[in-house]
Amino acid sequence: MPNDVVTMDKIVSLCKRRGFIFPASEIYGGLHNSYDYGHYGVLLKQNVIAQWWKAMIQERDDIVALDSAIIQHPRTWEASGHLAGFSDPLVQCLGKCKRRFREDHLREEAEARGESTDHLVCPVCGGELTEPRAFNLMFETTIGPVKEDGATVYLRPETAQGIFLDFKQVLQFARRKPPFGIAQVGKSFRNEITPGNFIFRTLEFEQMEMEFFVPPAEAPQWHEHWLKERFDWYVNLGIDPEHLRLRPHDADELSHYSSATSDVEYLYPIGWSELEGIANRGDFDLTQHAKFSGEKLDYVDPQTGDRYIPYVIEPAAGVGRSMLAFLCDAYDEDEIGGEQRTVLRLHPALAPVKVAVLPLLRKAGHPEKARAVYEELRRHMKAEYDDGGAIGRRYRRQDEIGTPFAITIDHQTIEDDTVTLRDRDTLEQERVPVEGLARRLLAKLDPGVV
Ligand code: ATP
Repeated sequence: MPNDVVTMDKIVSLCKRRGFIFPASEIYGGLHNSYDYGHYGVLLKQNVIAQWWKAMIQERDDIVALDSAIIQHPRTWEASGHLAGFSDPLVQCLGKCKRRFREDHLREEAEARGESTDHLVCPVCGGELTEPRAFNLMFETTIGPVKEDGATVYLRPETAQGIFLDFKQVLQFARRKPPFGIAQVGKSFRNEITPGNFIFRTLEFEQMEMEFFVPPAEAPQWHEHWLKERFDWYVNLGIDPEHLRLRPHDADELSHYSSATSDVEYLYPIGWSELEGIANRGDFDLTQHAKFSGEKLDYVDPQTGDRYIPYVIEPAAGVGRSMLAFLCDAYDEDEIGGEQRTVLRLHPALAPVKVAVLPLLRKAGHPEKARAVYEELRRHMKAEYDDGGAIGRRYRRQDEIGTPFAITIDHQTIEDDTVTLRDRDTLEQERVPVEGLARRLLAKLDPGVV
């Protein structure tokens, strides 16, 4: 367990209670494993993505950004191997419950329990299972008004292929030479057989992927480089390193394109599971697209005249899975003055709201002053104004969404223009002048946070 209090149920219920994330299509009874992101969920998601862009683009000068189409030419998926090979082994229970499972998951679970995998049975009702059948994960749709005459196309199951298709263009307009990377964030879609565990595995999800093109001989060292960079990214954003590990794939686990992959795994309440995959894709993708399209996708070094197809190192992360890890790691419960408190100890960079402004009373000039302070602060950072209910309850509402700072306007504010500044984690309250408040908060937040 990541810490001694968090469970998946508590995260799901906090997310629903505070409108972070909730089931999609709920008025129709929901749609299996689709979720909508509400106000705080959107803000948290934006912050996760912004931190990823910051690490990829702002803090380096060897990566450029791209936003490619979700629906690409159908030949893309022939070349990439997804049409033939992107499938999971599906088994169905022949007993009472008729549920479907991924055979590889059942096998892994049996192995983890130290049981034989010779004869797998349904884990729910103990029934016999069908033989495994390969099930392609890509969602299919049609371009054109008539399905029969239209062209069959696919919703992308990963964002990476759009990057490979544009490799040549980017090489020209970005004036880059290997080693350099192309980064992209966007939705991907997979017709998962066994979705579950909240936003861990969903039908549509956002990915943050970066393809780093390198001279072939340098691939192993760049793979190591990216393993470290990505592991540290999570740690720098507040995840306890004890809850993270790197796990190299066994040879029989490797994807069709990969010569080496390591997963960054997080200790979710469901156990150690993949958070991000970091693969050495070799020259598989560019070679395939060159073959299928007839375009040359190699790189010619203008100085040496060397011609080669670059190798690709790919850190591929999921936005939802990262959010789930950040939420689980930040979740805590403690007691203040005999009352139970739920608090998200989110890194300030990720916190949906950075500061809350709370008038102690709804009279005596407090609301007016509080609004003025709030309107000044919101020019600099995401701030929230709340005058509803007892002050303790308002603090707890902010703690529960991870707001690092709260400012209270009281009688003394009206007299001497000072406020109390409360820290979510230490619970310390200091009296500080309104003058220079934004600067003081910005200094307390890590640089680059807002
Ligand atoms: P898994 O083995 O869990 O199905 P994968 O190895 O197929 O994942 P990749 O193809 O490596 O996943 O995708 C890169 C990242 O995209 C994953 O580490 C994960 O964070 C995210 N991801 C993949 N599939 C899903 C999904 N169905 N729902 C949410 N996130 C996903």
